[in-house]
Amino acid sequence: MKKFKPIRQTRVSEEVTEQIKQCILLGDFNAGDKLPAERELMEQFQVSRVAIREALRALENSGFVSTRQGATGGTYVIELSFENLSSAFIDLFLAEKISIPEMFHVRVLIEPEVARLAAMRITPESTEKLLEILEKEESPVNSLADDIETKTMAHFVLAEICGNRFLEALVKSLMRVTKKVIEAVNPNTLSMHPAGMHRPIVEAVIAGKPDEAAEAMRRHALEFGEVMIEMERAHRESLRSGFNMKNSVG
Ligand SMILES: [Zn+2]
Repeated sequence: MKKFKPIRQTRVSEEVTEQIKQCILLGDFNAGDKLPAERELMEQFQVSRVAIREALRALENSGFVSTRQGATGGTYVIELSFENLSSAFIDLFLAEKISIPEMFHVRVLIEPEVARLAAMRITPESTEKLLEILEKEESPVNSLADDIETKTMAHFVLAEICGNRFLEALVKSLMRVTKKVIEAVNPNTLSMHPAGMHRPIVEAVIAGKPDEAAEAMRRHALEFGEVMIEMERAHRESLRSGFNMKNSVG
């Protein structure tokens, strides 16, 4: 006799997830749009509240929607972005499935290429943006958060200029992980990434010199990678000995 395959209960919510995802990908819902209310979704899909909630949670976890509370509350479609990729990398890092040396190996491989491409595609607008960033980088900062923010901007903008969105997403995600690690260790970044480190890169990009830009970025990635690796090592050691890292780096 023919044997039937049992239907898993979760299939229902998976199908709801899939249909909503398709609508978002096809542009029936755009970033900022509010999804129909729970009750309406229940009616349209003819499924239980539990299934709808499960589906919405899955969509939220995969970065398609976000839930807001309050008067304007509801489930909103968010712009698909590299955020998703970043949080996957951060999770892998936190789970110790990727290490700082591995991450910097990748940065050393791809960031020079990003700088090279940026030098080939430099425009007056991006020149202006880069000069602004250099200026901001080289003026005094108020806090660690500020410092991290300004020191990562050059990397973000070069990635945007490079014109390859996959590279852009990779660089931005790697920067997020780097940021996360620095925040966790909470050192004095003024000394680990001094102002002016990006000047040779940015100047070569602005001058439209791809090889020089790539080489300057390679040097920077190697140099900063060493600092990060050392920082993480010292941090782990200090955790082991119960010594507070925050007071030791100056
Ligand atoms: Zn840098």
